[in-house]
Amino acid sequence: MIIIVKPEAKEERVRDLVQWIEAQGLRTHISKGDYTTVIGVIGDISKLDDELLSGLDIVESVKHVSEPFKNANRKFHPLDSVIKVGKDQIPVGHGNFAIIAGPCSVESEEQIISVAKSVKASGATMLRGGAFKPRTSPYDFQGLKADGINLLLEAKKETGLPIVTEIMNANHLPLFEDVDVIQVGARNMQNFELLKELGKTRKPILIKRGLANTIKELLMSAEYIMSNGNENIILCERGIRTFETATRNTLDLSAVCVLHELSHLPVIVDPSHATGVARYVKSMSMAAAACGADGLIIEVHNDPQHALCDGAQSLRPEQFDDVVKAVRRVRAAALAED
Ligand code: PEP
Ligand code: MN
Repeated sequence: MIIIVKPEAKEERVRDLVQWIEAQGLRTHISKGDYTTVIGVIGDISKLDDELLSGLDIVESVKHVSEPFKNANRKFHPLDSVIKVGKDQIPVGHGNFAIIAGPCSVESEEQIISVAKSVKASGATMLRGGAFKPRTSPYDFQGLKADGINLLLEAKKETGLPIVTEIMNANHLPLFEDVDVIQVGARNMQNFELLKELGKTRKPILIKRGLANTIKELLMSAEYIMSNGNENIILCERGIRTFETATRNTLDLSAVCVLHELSHLPVIVDPSHATGVARYVKSMSMAAAACGADGLIIEVHNDPQHALCDGAQSLRPEQFDDVVKAVRRVRAAALAED
């Protein structure tokens, strides 16, 4: 349920109302805009009398939220959320565009430092790199694990770029203490126990859409994290599995529009995993920027041919530089249009 409060309502009256609702064993979420305050109510709302609430002089209207996702719902939080990342509090969302770049996996100190420096010079705002890798085959490179995270921290020290890396097991959380954004990969999107643990942290979480998951399921996964207390969520469309085999996955760009409509959370796009082909990454990055995505996560490797993971979809640093320039042109054109 959402309660829209009249603009002239006094703050203490709103506070009293919230306390009264919470005293019935319900949880509330308050979203303050410039003109309206929305009180989201979660729990057994049959305990509340709609007519009584609507009749209060500070209440403008009462609406029921039929969707099962509440915290992630734009009805609960009409304004775009802006997620702040790292010690510099880099904003993501509501026009603040994130460019996350780096190798699929951290392979060596030389590799990660060199990629970090080049992507930073091209305009990346964050560095990505997998330390724990979810590989289809148990015989493939599984990542450098804790050593990989330490190398990412080195790269962060060298460049100042906040780091984004994937978690696969909640028991590894202590290793992620200095990680700026924790990624939940497509394969773990519905690892609900992991999501609940991430909900107890206050770290920004980048959650990727599962290979065969609907947009609503992605929002329900975000809801798992948010309902446990962590509202710092960035959603990521990374392509879904379809009957098409020409690309690794099928990039569902309409998901960006749907997610923006249904939710206030920022939505970024991963054109690398979506296509699996380096030469398609530029066009899909431009398309993502054009349709209003809040950022990109792109795989970049200093030597894609010899990459231990996802070389075929990885850009060389100079190709990434070209993509960033193209994306800037698209964004400038889209803003001019507005
Ligand atoms: C990755 O980012 O390297 C990765 C494994 O992504 P996804 O979970 O989208 O497959
Ligand atoms: Mn990858």
